[in-house]
Amino acid sequence: EVEEARAKLGELDLEVQQKTNRLAEVELRLKDSLAEKAQEEERLSRRLRDSQETIASLKSQPPQVKYIIKTVEVESSKAKQALCESQSRNQYLQEQVGMQRQVLKEMEQQLQSSQKTAAQLRAQIMLYEAELERAHGQMLEEMQAMEDEKNRAIEEAFSRAQVEMKAVHENLAGVRTNLLTLQPALRTLTNDYNSLKRQVRDFPLLLQETLRSARSEIGQAIEEVNSTNRELLRKYRRELQLRKKCHNELVRLKGNIRVFGRVRPITKEDGVGAEAASAVTFDPDDDAVLHLLHKGKQVSFELDKVFPPKATQEDVFREVQALVTSCIDGYNVCIFAYGQTGAGKTYTMEGTAANPGINQRALQLLFAEVRSKAADWDYAISVSVAEIYNEALRDLLGKEPQEKLEIKLCPDGSGQLYVPGLTEFRVQSVEDINKVFELGHVNRATECTNLNEHSSRSHALLIVTVRGLDHSTGLRTAGKLNLVDLAGSERVGRSGAEGSRLREAQYINKSLSALGDVIYALRSRQGHVPFRNSKLTYLLQDSLSGDSKTLMMVQV
Ligand code: ADP
Ligand code: MG
Repeated sequence: EVEEARAKLGELDLEVQQKTNRLAEVELRLKDSLAEKAQEEERLSRRLRDSQETIASLKSQPPQVKYIIKTVEVESSKAKQALCESQSRNQYLQEQVGMQRQVLKEMEQQLQSSQKTAAQLRAQIMLYEAELERAHGQMLEEMQAMEDEKNRAIEEAFSRAQVEMKAVHENLAGVRTNLLTLQPALRTLTNDYNSLKRQVRDFPLLLQETLRSARSEIGQAIEEVNSTNRELLRKYRRELQLRKKCHNELVRLKGNIRVFGRVRPITKEDGVGAEAASAVTFDPDDDAVLHLLHKGKQVSFELDKVFPPKATQEDVFREVQALVTSCIDGYNVCIFAYGQTGAGKTYTMEGTAANPGINQRALQLLFAEVRSKAADWDYAISVSVAEIYNEALRDLLGKEPQEKLEIKLCPDGSGQLYVPGLTEFRVQSVEDINKVFELGHVNRATECTNLNEHSSRSHALLIVTVRGLDHSTGLRTAGKLNLVDLAGSERVGRSGAEGSRLREAQYINKSLSALGDVIYALRSRQGHVPFRNSKLTYLLQDSLSGDSKTLMMVQV
């Protein structure tokens, strides 16, 4: 800082010097200007004097002089102008001088302040120098103290090192003795290492040996598991057969042929009043009894189950669904709707779009069951739709529905029946079923002039075949579900019908009584069952005999 202050002081000195020089210069110029001005003034006053003298002399000789006066006057005005100019110039110069003086004064002030600053700086420099001196002294003292400290530390470290050295020497001696005792241990380690090396060399051989024995053990285990599996499979098959037998027994105990009754709600056509309302009555404690009022007398019927008018399609289906699913297990099933025209046969079997009947519900249930068993079984569900009118069997899904089909014995000697040319459609969804039903309806409608009348005089059949294959056992099953909407059971013939109506009535009576005969023969376990007496019973022979199950839904 002192150095800096000194440099600044030098600069300031130089500046002062320069300013002094400039001041001297300005003073010199000022002096020159003043001198010049004085000269000019003098010259002009001299000329004025001369002119005045000339004028005076000229005035004394007036005649010819007037002109001259005039001239002089003219000249004097010129001189006046010059004077004026000089005066203004003089004025300007004086202003300049004033200004220069001002500058001078300012410079002097600056000079003074610079000198004051310089004096202050000098004082500060002095202060700093003193401080510097003091600091230097202190530093010297501190250095001395540090030197002393260092010497002391060195001495201490030296003595400590000597002590440590001694300890290390002692340790070394201990390590030497340890080393002597470690040598035998090293020898045993070397031995161990060598034996390990040998073992590593022998390891692949050992491994192969172990692998061989492990393999044979695993093979044995697999063999055991396989034989257990075979045993389990055998037991499973036996269980399956046992289940079937038990089921059969159960059905047999319940009876392979069941008769349900369904009473539809009363309509206007049934008549009104107390008589109509009490024509059919039920036993609140027994859902298997039906009372009919006939000519003032009550007649009671005992069935397997009676559905009152308030029973819904779901209620009815709940009672028949066990029958439906049994065809997945390979049973043949027949469900008939029997009753007079208008008693609700078609409602029970087909139902309405909003409230479908057994046909559609059965197929939906079959789809659901098949899906739930898909892990073990492959199932194929196919349907045929046929009609029997005047003892002629027609395929309602075929290209030529008017063609009459024959029922034939299978040529393989199995005693099974089949219908050559009967169309079978594979179905997988509700949409498929609806398409099939639609086609059946269309074909049936194109065949007749009055569908209602026609349908009441023919039997409509929906034949569902379910074929299954169990992946694990290779077991195959085939079950058939026959859903039959029978022709109206009213006795047309007695009311004096003629011609085609009479023939229709005869056919209907014949086939319905043939069905009755077959059912009766089956139920009373007769040796001979007259299946061949009608197309219907002949077609359904394999679904009515053996361990087949039959349900007759009597519509009232
Ligand atoms: P069928 O086929 O025996 O000649 P329908 O099934 O055609 O008789 O039934 C005749 C009428 O009665 C139809 O309009 C049908 O909708 C109606 N019907 C039949 N049963 C019921 C029932 N359980 N609930 C409501 N309506 C029914
Ligand atoms: Mg009908």
